[in-house]
Amino acid sequence: MRVAIGTEPERPGKENEDFAAVLPGAVVVIDGASAPPGLESGCAHSVAWYARTLGGLLAGVVTDPSLTLADALEAGIERVVLAHTDTCDVGNPHSPSATVAVARATGDELEYLVLADTTVLLARSRDEPLAVTDGRLEALRGRIDGLAEGPSLWGDTRAFARLSRVEKFAAYRNRPGGFWVAGTDPAAAREAVTGSLPLAEVLSVSVMTDGATRLVDLFGLRTWSGALDLLDEEGPAGLIRRTREAEASDPDGTRWPRAKASDDATVVHWTLPM
Ligand SMILES: [Zn+2]
Repeated sequence: MRVAIGTEPERPGKENEDFAAVLPGAVVVIDGASAPPGLESGCAHSVAWYARTLGGLLAGVVTDPSLTLADALEAGIERVVLAHTDTCDVGNPHSPSATVAVARATGDELEYLVLADTTVLLARSRDEPLAVTDGRLEALRGRIDGLAEGPSLWGDTRAFARLSRVEKFAAYRNRPGGFWVAGTDPAAAREAVTGSLPLAEVLSVSVMTDGATRLVDLFGLRTWSGALDLLDEEGPAGLIRRTREAEASDPDGTRWPRAKASDDATVVHWTLPM
């Protein structure tokens, strides 16, 4: 298996809340969702703990061919909840959560799963690259940040307006009409975006956190094809370095308004055939 991994924290010295694992015929990437400082999560652990523990537990089952990728993720979430249900309030809406992306070769198929804003980028022999992501979180950002009136989930628009931005997102987390992440509800696995392609048509699979897809989907400095060229020529480190250069050129978000100047960035670039 020819795989290159790059992962870097948001800034030097900060704990990296991303996680990546490579198994025989499978790749797992997790992006822990950092909560705003001062928010009571009910959890004694860090977001990085959640991302690594979920990632490790998912890695433990993801190569089992009797499980679909959604089954594997469901089992991973069940087990990470069990890992802290005795010590933490797993019913707290701000309990640590994470986005997930998985790719797996099974028989003649390349299967993928994406939950929330991670991306699986597939280079194909016959077609343009296919970038698979789950757009529900991004759509909700647009709705909450540009909200003129109360959303459909909330009958009382005044009560909704009084909530902080964080509370608004929490109100939509793992609910129909909102967005889905790995947190404390294993049923979120059923909401993941999944699919497959004939393995013979796939040239490479790149599994990426949103800190690494910014060069394309936020900054617009590369197309997905351009990002693939960069990955093939310079590897994940090259793509992350270009991302950091772009961020450094716009430190206060004038050109590219964004919540964080930089973010933890992870890419696993898997070149096929195995
Ligand atoms: Zn905990």
